[in-house]
Amino acid sequence: MHVSGAQRAAPGVVRIELPLPIPALKVVNVYLVDGQDRSLVDAGIHTAEAEAALHAGLAAHGVRTEDVARTFVTHLHPDHFGMAGTLERAGSSIVMHRPEAERARKTWAKDGHLIDATHEWFDLHGITPEVNEGMREAWIAMRSRVDEVARIAVVDDGGTFDLGGRNARVVWTPGHTDFHAVLFDEDTGTLFAGDHVLPTITSNIGLYSFSRDDPLGDFLSSLRRVRELPVRRVLPAHGEPFDDLGGRVDELLEHHRLRLDVVLELSTGLDAYVIAKRLFTRLRSAHEERFALAETLAHLRHLERTARVVPDEGRPVRWRAV
Ligand SMILES: [Zn+2]
Ligand SMILES: [Zn+2]
Repeated sequence: MHVSGAQRAAPGVVRIELPLPIPALKVVNVYLVDGQDRSLVDAGIHTAEAEAALHAGLAAHGVRTEDVARTFVTHLHPDHFGMAGTLERAGSSIVMHRPEAERARKTWAKDGHLIDATHEWFDLHGITPEVNEGMREAWIAMRSRVDEVARIAVVDDGGTFDLGGRNARVVWTPGHTDFHAVLFDEDTGTLFAGDHVLPTITSNIGLYSFSRDDPLGDFLSSLRRVRELPVRRVLPAHGEPFDDLGGRVDELLEHHRLRLDVVLELSTGLDAYVIAKRLFTRLRSAHEERFALAETLAHLRHLERTARVVPDEGRPVRWRAV
């Protein structure tokens, strides 16, 4: 594997940027790790452009797609899990945190149970029927960009993932998804952060009817959890690699502290959808409205669990400050 200094993201690791058909994100980073053999962290979304970019990105380092021995997928989102089946068919094993693998199967299942549950959940929280239908259509359309994977090898929190001769620790970091996991390579101090800690944008934290009880509470706890690790280099899935994990964690904790105050102030007498539209004033699609509503609900639930708001019994659910 030939690696110039400019391409090296961390010792033995290069970043390959894959295009995304998502205006807000544009690119996802996957990381190629050189060891006794080749490993990959995250798999990109499956579009023709992304697949071509993956093959070209590997080839630029003298690696064929068939040379990837194993791929760790941090979480079930389509920009991370989408091409896992393509890599599997080329010979890679696909590895995920055990409960995230199970949730991935449900999320992309043809039965659409989670889509129906989300439709009902959003309706309960005041979304308009048009936007709710847009959410359903966008989710169904996304399924065509996510490969089927025959076999996912699972690993538990605290287990290891083989980076071709050196072991990285799998660390459960709930919040962005319920069972999101990062990889920490202790030998080099490298954190493969997935969408848990991003340098310039904040990860979407959403509450759904099937979520863990308090995803934002989970996220704040798991930010503190990774800050305890002796990290020297953070490799995020979106944006540039960076070094100051502690500084970024503090910014994110502060962002959510302020956001909670704003939601608390806005909450009384309103449903979550109205609050979301006041918080996020530039929503460009049903897709973005859906994430805004789920994020607002995550903040409301955290305020509820910390005894600052209560929901009423009506439909749509309205909130009031305690
Ligand atoms: Zn994600
Ligand atoms: Zn992502």
